Amino acid sequence: MSTYSASKKDQPVKIVADYLTKHYDGRAGEKEALEPTSLTIRDGEFFCLLGPSGCGKSTLLNMLAGFIQPSTGSVLINNEPMFKPLPSYIMMSQEYGLFPWRTVLENVMFGLEIKHSKKEERVAIAQNYINLVHLQGFENSHPFELSGGMKQRVALARTLAMDPEVIFMDEPFNALDMVMRIGLQEEITRIWAEHKKTIVFVTHDVEEAIYLADRIAIMKHHPGKIEFLFEVNLPRPRERGSYDFYTLKEEILREIAETDRV
Ligand code: ADP
Repeated sequence: MSTYSASKKDQPVKIVADYLTKHYDGRAGEKEALEPTSLTIRDGEFFCLLGPSGCGKSTLLNMLAGFIQPSTGSVLINNEPMFKPLPSYIMMSQEYGLFPWRTVLENVMFGLEIKHSKKEERVAIAQNYINLVHLQGFENSHPFELSGGMKQRVALARTLAMDPEVIFMDEPFNALDMVMRIGLQEEITRIWAEHKKTIVFVTHDVEEAIYLADRIAIMKHHPGKIEFLFEVNLPRPRERGSYDFYTLKEEILREIAETDRV
C-alpha cells in the first residue's frame, strides 16, 4: 500500500487566483457569483472545490482554466498572468465531449496531431492510454456502444494522451452510478499519482472530495465564496470504511452545517 504524503507544500506554485471576483448580468440586474477569492494551487496537487449547487464552483474552475474572464482580479500560471486558456491546461467536462462518429481509438487520438505528425506514433500513444483506463478490446467501438463509465474512461484517456500539465474536472462522474463512480475515483487517483498531474476537481460530494483530494476548498453560496480550506492527511489509497475517513467526513459536514447557520 502506498502512503505518499498529501502535503505538497514544498512543490512549486502552479496556479494563483489573486482576488478573483465574478459578476453576471442577469434579468434581475447584476449578480455577484463569486466574492473576492484568493487561492494557491501547487504542482502535483489534487485540489477539490466542494459545495452546493450554485456556489460558484464552475465559475471559479472556468476562471482558473481561462475560459471565463474574472470581473476583477487575475489568475497567474507559473507566476505569469494568464490571458487565455493554455493548451497544456485541459478541461474535462461531465458530458464526456466525445465525437460520436469517431471510434474509441480515434477519439483518444484527437488532439495528438499537433505534437505528433506520424500516425503510427499517435496510434501507439492512444493505445497506451486506452490500456491505462482498461479499455483494451474496445478500440474500434463507437461511443453509443459504451456505458457512461466507459465513455468517461475514453474522455479521461483522451485528456491524458494530450499530456496536460493541469487537468480541470467539473463534476466528471456525476452521471455515473455509484459502482462506476467509485471505480473511476480509484482510477483517477492511481493515474494522478503515477503521472504526477495537477488536478483541480469540482464536486458536491463530501466523500468523493475526501477520497480524492490533498486539499478541499469548501464553498458557500449567496454570494459564492470559499469558506474554508481543509487539508486531507489520510494515507492513500484511502479507505472509505475507515474510522479516520468517517471522522473527517463528519468534521467537514459539521463545518458546512455551522457555516450555513451563520
Ligand atoms: P456551481 O458550479 O457551484 O453550481 P456556478 O458557478 O455554475 O455554480 O454558478 C454560480 C452562480 O452564478 C449561480 O447563481 C448561477 O446561477 C450564476 N451563473 C452562472 N453562470 C451564469 C451566467 N452565464 N449568467 C448568469 N448567471 C450565471
